[in-house]
Amino acid sequence: MAVSGRGPYDPQNVFAKILRGEIPCRKIYENEYALAFHDIAPQAPVHVLVIPKGPYVSFADFSQTAGEAEIAGFTRAVGHVAASLGLEDHGYRLLANMGAAAGQEVPHFHVHLFGGAALGPMLHRS
Ligand code: AMP
Repeated sequence: MAVSGRGPYDPQNVFAKILRGEIPCRKIYENEYALAFHDIAPQAPVHVLVIPKGPYVSFADFSQTAGEAEIAGFTRAVGHVAASLGLEDHGYRLLANMGAAAGQEVPHFHVHLFGGAALGPMLHRS
């Protein structure tokens, strides 16, 4: 079910539980500010999620309230993961759903990293 993308932050969301080690993930990388792991229901040959370690509901929340070191550390983690997975030669896609219109389901900011195949049109058209 889609969420609003606005607070308050729910510490019982699934990514908060992953960060606390309460449920497992297939971890790829972490630094001081970010954790990257495989999406549980991949929609491309490579489908990775990168999440900040801080409690941000959405990109709106992260971009408005995270500190500069967090933003830099998170952004560098995304780039590092893409490069380390060998996605730069053929290209990749980053996507962040914010709120109901985008279909955001998990109320902890995350970036989807897709790659490993031609990814088709940017938006679904019905
Ligand atoms: P979004 O719709 O942008 O909020 O995306 C949420 C993503 O989280 C979906 O692609 C789900 O497949 C993924 N997801 C949900 N639970 C887990 C989990 N326990 N481990 C890894 N990925 C998950």
